[in-house]
Amino acid sequence: MTKKIIVIGGGIAGLTSGIYGLKAGYEVSIYEKNNIVGGECTGWDRKGYHIDNCIHWMMGTTKGTDLYDIWKTVGAVGDHVEIIRNNNMYTSTLNNQSITLWDDIEKTERELIELSKEDEEEIKKLIKNVKLSMNVEIPADKAMEFKGPLELIKMMKTQKNTLKIFKEYENEDTQDLMNKFKHPLIKCMLSDFCPKESGALSFPMAYGNFVGGDGGVPRGGSRAMALRMENKFKELGGQIYTNSSVKKIIIEGNLAKGIVLDNEKEIYGDYIIPSCDTDYTFNALLDKPYMDPILRNMYEREDDYLIYGMFQVAYAIDSKEDLLGGEIILDCSDIKIAPWMGDRMTIKTYAYEPSFAPEGKQILQVLLPLDVKAYDYWMSLYKNKEEYNNKKEELANILLKKIEASYEGYKGRMEILDSWTPVTYKRYCNAYKGYNQAFIMSKRADKKAYPSAYVKNLDNVILCGQWINPPGGVCGAAITGKFAIQRILKKEKKDINI
Ligand SMILES: Cc1cc2nc3c(=O)[nH]c(=O)nc-3n(C[C@H](O)[C@H](O)[C@H](O)COP(=O)(O)OP(=O)(O)OC[C@H]3O[C@@H](n4cnc5c(N)ncnc54)[C@H](O)[C@@H]3O)c2cc1C
Repeated sequence: MTKKIIVIGGGIAGLTSGIYGLKAGYEVSIYEKNNIVGGECTGWDRKGYHIDNCIHWMMGTTKGTDLYDIWKTVGAVGDHVEIIRNNNMYTSTLNNQSITLWDDIEKTERELIELSKEDEEEIKKLIKNVKLSMNVEIPADKAMEFKGPLELIKMMKTQKNTLKIFKEYENEDTQDLMNKFKHPLIKCMLSDFCPKESGALSFPMAYGNFVGGDGGVPRGGSRAMALRMENKFKELGGQIYTNSSVKKIIIEGNLAKGIVLDNEKEIYGDYIIPSCDTDYTFNALLDKPYMDPILRNMYEREDDYLIYGMFQVAYAIDSKEDLLGGEIILDCSDIKIAPWMGDRMTIKTYAYEPSFAPEGKQILQVLLPLDVKAYDYWMSLYKNKEEYNNKKEELANILLKKIEASYEGYKGRMEILDSWTPVTYKRYCNAYKGYNQAFIMSKRADKKAYPSAYVKNLDNVILCGQWINPPGGVCGAAITGKFAIQRILKKEKKDINI
């Protein structure tokens, strides 16, 4: 008889595990609490505009890598999906100066040196490391525990540039990297994409990935990608139950028998894959003691394993003129309304997606990073919806004025479409402290200890999702989805090469 897998959550990880599960010959059902799949990788419509919630940068959009193969298998990319790439990754601005990270790395190098001659030596070193990272690949063929000695040696050989970069930046974080430079704008540029506590290699690796030709955005954006994956899952015979929040995993001895939905319905299966946030899995779906000590340690050491939040706004712009030409990061320390508010905000237009706005108009979105303390602030405000909405509107208006002051051409042409906070991700995805990614591993974090996908004393529960692959992201999530099925196949002594 065909064995049955129950997947909890229809985000990128859950959908990927579902598709690989079907390909491996299992019967798979996905239970998703929301009325649409995608989880954090989604988008929504307001007043004729489409708000894209997720993909600014997606690894694995270039052919010939293991990651591309995963995206293709799950229908996220393929010959039918155009990959959009801007000629720059982003532009950082400060005190009326700006610097752009072009896809042409020589141009970026020249402009950085022109900006700060006194940083020339460090700029050259940085650019050398970016170049080393250009063809770095994320291993995504099989879970590490299944790699034999020869495969590990082969991996080490193909990853020799990664190892060099690891060595170069050993025990350094982005703040340490920033400290090597004198020019304040270059310091900002380094931390505008990677939080200061993230490893120093984060910036060169991310920019290297972009310069190497990866890091595109699939046409249609985040929601369209998740829906393509849902279609793939259904085409292969999978069942998706939306509006189906799972309340508990039913345990009998050292096996999970099935799940109970919020409406008390019980569903039984042979394997359970919780793909949702691990905080929710171990504090609601399972009892706390099941949590892997490594993961518990991560939650407990919040200064070493960091969590951020985000305040976001989407504005309708009554003009189709794109004054930004990509993602721009502005200094916003002058409009700080609380200590938990970040000093830098990203603004972005979607000129590359004309269908996201009515004819002659466009959409502009703002991402404002927040300290983790903002979570408690917004959660407590949320108890009174009116106060919560008023505060959101107040902040959205402050940011609007800041943008108008920076881009005169948009003055009087901006209207708030929607704004959202960490509360949104908590409510929508059960996300821990409303964070949309997984832990940022600081230099004090134990680099060798990663959360396990297995649950001790529960033989047929295998986890997937971004939280077991920090710092997360859609590609990290998808990889864990594929690996979950390999782990099940291994338990059944079957070929794991799927
Ligand atoms: C603003 C923003 C920008 C981002 N930008 C990028 C980017 O540019 N590049 C990138 O790689 N990543 C980006 N990310 C991160 C990316 O979206 C996530 O890393 C990824 O989507 C996580 O996927 P997941 O499947 O692990 O988790 P989730 O998306 O959280 O999926 C979990 C699913 O489980 C469901 N669920 C939870 N509890 C239950 C329950 N009890 N019963 C049933 N279902 C349940 C949730 O509703 C959700 O659908 C961004 C995220 C945001 C929000």
